[in-house]
Amino acid sequence: MENMLNIKINGIPCSVPYGTKIIEAARMVGIEIPTLCYLKEMNEIGACRFCVVEVKGARSLVAACVFPIERDGTEIFTNSEKVRKARKTTLELILSTHERKCLSCIRSGNCELQKLCKEYGVSEEDKFDGAKPVYELDYSAAHMVRDNNKCILCRRCVAACNEQGIGVIGANARGIDTHIGSAFELPLNTTSCISCGQCIVNCPVGAIYEKDDTEKVFDAINDESKYVVVQAAPAVRATLGEHFGLPVGTDVTGKMFAALRRLGFDKVFDTNFGADLTIMEEATELLGRIKNGGVLPMITSCSPGWIKYCEHYYPTELDHLSSCKSPMQMQGAITKSYFAEKNGIDPANIVSVAIMPCTAKKFECGRDDENGAGYPDVDYVLTTRELGRMIESAGINFHLLPEEECDAPLGQGTGAAVIFGATGGVMEAALRTAAEVITGEELASPEFTAVRGMDGVKEATYNLGGMDVKVAIASGTKNAKILMDKVKDGTADYTFIEIMGCPGGCINGGGQPVQPASVRNFTDLKGLRAAALYKNDESRPLRKSHLNEDVKAVYADFLGEPNSHKAHELLHTSYVARPMYSK
Ligand code: SF4
Ligand code: SF4
Ligand code: SF4
Repeated sequence: MENMLNIKINGIPCSVPYGTKIIEAARMVGIEIPTLCYLKEMNEIGACRFCVVEVKGARSLVAACVFPIERDGTEIFTNSEKVRKARKTTLELILSTHERKCLSCIRSGNCELQKLCKEYGVSEEDKFDGAKPVYELDYSAAHMVRDNNKCILCRRCVAACNEQGIGVIGANARGIDTHIGSAFELPLNTTSCISCGQCIVNCPVGAIYEKDDTEKVFDAINDESKYVVVQAAPAVRATLGEHFGLPVGTDVTGKMFAALRRLGFDKVFDTNFGADLTIMEEATELLGRIKNGGVLPMITSCSPGWIKYCEHYYPTELDHLSSCKSPMQMQGAITKSYFAEKNGIDPANIVSVAIMPCTAKKFECGRDDENGAGYPDVDYVLTTRELGRMIESAGINFHLLPEEECDAPLGQGTGAAVIFGATGGVMEAALRTAAEVITGEELASPEFTAVRGMDGVKEATYNLGGMDVKVAIASGTKNAKILMDKVKDGTADYTFIEIMGCPGGCINGGGQPVQPASVRNFTDLKGLRAAALYKNDESRPLRKSHLNEDVKAVYADFLGEPNSHKAHELLHTSYVARPMYSK
């Protein structure tokens, strides 16, 4: 029996296990203690002092996020005059060095500092005068901007980057000069940053944000000489609703397509088509490697954050990567070749836009060898957040939108494609197709549940037509390292590995709606978002990629067979070893 302590919080009696942190205990009686730096199990450093509370008998206020309850009879006050005064002073001190530009700030309306200032009645006027360091913005990376003038030094980004096993940002200098930067103040694009954006989704304020391409896309839509085609990734439909205040895990597929149509795109396609196409190419590549003694284990290549990680950290292992482009790039290449040819459109006039849950996709679309039809497969990548802002800015009322379908012929997607958005989903989709191709028989059930779930590393073995296939899955690059060390030392006895750069996969990508710490700390964000995708899969008439009629038509009319010469030209790519630091 757990050692229980009887305590009181704001006079309300409750019973908590020995060692419970005050912040957790307060939630048990319905009190949410405000925080700025605290991220559960990731950044428990008690640095911002905003969560301070009074403990009867203690000489000073204590930080609720790190203070454990160890005494029976402890009495805690979370909203006393002393507590409120201390929190207000903390905010005034933060604002004394903060560039207050709420009107134009990308996080206005979704900023944890702004919200707390409003709740505590803190004004924009200077309460404390003193040194105000001014920092140059770092625009060097393809995917994001760092603005230390708005940084409140909570170090949540540092923790997120470390959690990824990357650690390219940290606190530089001391005292009033303390700021977040890379080693030796190097621009981010010269480091081994993998563009995952996990720092962005964990930042409470407007100090880190994606490079915004929304105006360029509006310009293309308004240019009559351009034919603007958009695709939306599987994981976006499970999160876009959060931007409009819908509960986490709401599937908004139909409204998403309706919104894209009202924004004025000429064709609204679904990256699910590209995901099914990827399975056809990847499963064929895998079976070819098994038959012909190719390099195994083969590793998936859908996640550009993971690919960049492999190029920086495991440059000697690149031949394990599937040569398949990601679903986004495949969809773009087919749009500018097959679709252009079929519809008599000059591919030079097609603008290919992709809505993605991912900031690394902004890096990916500019990589070499990603222009199968002689033009960039994808011209602009917008994150889920950017799409949300475009919808608002165009005066579209998301809640009033009807449910609509996407367009043909690059719109059909199976349930196998939808689950690409969650860790294990690509593996499950590949297994559904590989099993039926190898055995020539229909699966009793398309579900491979052992590869599902939010564990960082998963393993399973399946017997496919008499052949044992051992698979492994990792999400988050810190977990990728566990598998890659085995690959490197030759002890990885797997046939196929799926790796996603972000923890939990694309549903938790760096381009997804930013949820405040109060939600991140106490909600199963990844699980709820993934559940929406699995439910979507269950509801589809077709759940295996090789049954996709649009994909079959592209092979019959245009590509020939999977892995054909033409398919290789359009749908496959190459990788390059990258240094840890470059000049
Ligand atoms: S970071 Fe927050 S408080 Fe600062 S300018 Fe932006 S919205 Fe305003
Ligand atoms: S994008 Fe990812 S790797 Fe780069 S600094 Fe942010 S968390 Fe670190
Ligand atoms: S950049 Fe954002 S997450 Fe990082 S320390 Fe500054 S405020 Fe915190």
